[in-house]
Amino acid sequence: HAKENGRNTYRFYTADMNARALEILSVENQLRRALERDEFVLHYQPQVDMGSGRIVGVEALIRWRHPERGLVGPMQFIPIAEERGLIGAIGQWVLREACRQNQAWQAEGLPPIEVAVNLSAMQFYGRDLAQDITAILAETGLAPRWLALEVTESVIVQDVESTIATLAALKGMGLKLAIDDFGTGYSSLSYLKRFKVDKLKVDRSFVMDVPGDADDSAITRAIVNLARNLGLQVIAEGVETPEQWSFLKNEGCDEVQGYLISPPLPAEDLAKRLARGAWRLGSI
Ligand code: C2E
Ligand code: MG
Ligand code: MG
Ligand code: MG
Repeated sequence: HAKENGRNTYRFYTADMNARALEILSVENQLRRALERDEFVLHYQPQVDMGSGRIVGVEALIRWRHPERGLVGPMQFIPIAEERGLIGAIGQWVLREACRQNQAWQAEGLPPIEVAVNLSAMQFYGRDLAQDITAILAETGLAPRWLALEVTESVIVQDVESTIATLAALKGMGLKLAIDDFGTGYSSLSYLKRFKVDKLKVDRSFVMDVPGDADDSAITRAIVNLARNLGLQVIAEGVETPEQWSFLKNEGCDEVQGYLISPPLPAEDLAKRLARGAWRLGSI
């Protein structure tokens, strides 16, 4: 294979090939194998309604069960998968597995919840994402309303027209759309008018120093108010303390997600949590 030979030549004969590039090549090859050998797993982090304390959704977060390195977090390999053109295949696996699992929970008789899946910008190009998701929903039997997609502002600004068209198509199918890490991207708020998102996720970097830091508190309050005034749901991520909970509750935030309630859990543990019912502040 000429292309592969070329790459090998580069690999072995370029003097300034650094350790970082070698590491990327090695991870790339291992990622290809990981897909074939089914080494990926999803953990699920509860999203709790502040009023009822009930788990109303989960965010699916990928991990890699690496044969030597153990459980590897997404920050260690998702950027490489994006760079090396593997995110399409991995993203498809995540979507299918999240939908399959959520449908399985419903079939067990657990209270129905939304499952939120993170999407990379690249997943919007090359393939018809709406068509792929339609196929996955049909295959797994999950109703569209129980699938939410999380995109960051950076995903939207990559190619505004085509991304917004795809998001509108997905929305039309009955899926939920959330803007992840809201407020951290390079963005104009005008996209909030251009297509109907359902939910804003206040980034953990703002929530972290609430209520002690006046600036972060002001930003968090502004995002919660923006969402409410636009008729959107708002969820705070990275909630770790009862003080953050109280602040967010006071400001009228709808939902929270974070270590205060639970870290991301394997599917079986999440099912147990779901069966146990409502979470209350002070119940830990
Ligand atoms: P994200 O979508 O913003 O996910 C939230 C991250 O914050 C998760 O890290 C979660 O474990 C962590 N987190 C949740 N609550 C707390 C808390 O209270 N305190 C602290 N310190 N951290 C908290 P994780 O699982 O390492 O994922 C990191 C990022 O990797 C995600 O950020 C997301 O951007 C990306 N990612 C994860 N799974 C996927 C995937 O399937 N596809 C794509 N494209 N990206 C993914
Ligand atoms: Mg997310
Ligand atoms: Mg996030
Ligand atoms: Mg974040």
